[in-house]
Amino acid sequence: MTEAAIAISNMSKIYAGSGTEPPKKALDNVSLTVRRGEIFGLLGPNGAGKSTMINILAGLVNKSAGNASIWGFDIDANPRNAKVSIGIVPQEIVFDPFFSPAEVLEVQAGLYGVPKDKRKTMELLRAVRLEDKANAYARSLSGGMKRRLLVAKAMVHSPPILVLDEPTAGVDIELRQQLWDYVRALNAQGVTIVLTTHYLEEAEQLCDRIGIINHGEMIALEDTAKLVGMAREKIIVVSTAAPITTLPSDPLFEKVEQSDANTLKITYDKDTTNAGQVLTTVQAAGVEIVDVTTQEADLEDVFLNLTRAKV
Ligand code: ADP
Ligand code: MG
Repeated sequence: MTEAAIAISNMSKIYAGSGTEPPKKALDNVSLTVRRGEIFGLLGPNGAGKSTMINILAGLVNKSAGNASIWGFDIDANPRNAKVSIGIVPQEIVFDPFFSPAEVLEVQAGLYGVPKDKRKTMELLRAVRLEDKANAYARSLSGGMKRRLLVAKAMVHSPPILVLDEPTAGVDIELRQQLWDYVRALNAQGVTIVLTTHYLEEAEQLCDRIGIINHGEMIALEDTAKLVGMAREKIIVVSTAAPITTLPSDPLFEKVEQSDANTLKITYDKDTTNAGQVLTTVQAAGVEIVDVTTQEADLEDVFLNLTRAKV
């Protein structure tokens, strides 16, 4: 068996309380393996424990229990080797405002002991499309540019694993796409990618596998396609020609709601029926449809289905 990129076993974290704050259990006996070469998504709502897990791997937070190794190096027994095996883009953006992007990368390369002739400052800045900002003050960069600079900074020592904690916060759509193109290109070159997000769609588009974390517990760990298939329910929103007087009902519908006089919201199980059948049934009930939109299953649906499956 080839070694894991990241192996976490039975990891727990309890933050000590302070003042009136009670202690907080942020991770509860989490086990997880990230495979070498994959793009892994850690998905969960705010406060689920994602950053706590990343910060433990980064050596910024001490775990309360359990073990973790990075590229085969135990983070306690071999912290230096573990650290050079991973590049981390933190959730919070913090820069010295008077450093230029080129200086930020040079300083970071120095910290990791990358010799001058092995440094890739301009190459990295080009890759994240900041080459024309190389010598600008970091404080003059937009939020999206700063985040891309952080990605470059995480890669100065060419780690085999890149971790991005909520990378799309504050990044506009076009630049988000560029960021993903870069992440995919790195992955194609063999870099293992871990990203955390609370957007299912983001994880769905990029990741080979997804772990779902909720209240510090891993509640699912699956291939992306399989996980998305677990979100069985789908919603169809129908605008009607005439105001709705009676709600159509049918065993095919899990739920029918009226959002306003001319709008119906129908929830159905996509394993047992499809949008075409739902619309045909609505029309057969005498409703004249003028417009239709569908809503994909979202993270909440996955959660609901998973927690339902648990009982
Ligand atoms: P996520 O990144 O998934 O949003 P976090 O790991 O940041 O979640 O937080 C998990 C839980 O731990 C939350 O309830 C959060 O309030 C709490 N927490 C995070 N950092 C600290 C800290 N330094 N001290 C106390 N509680 C914390
Ligand atoms: Mg976080």
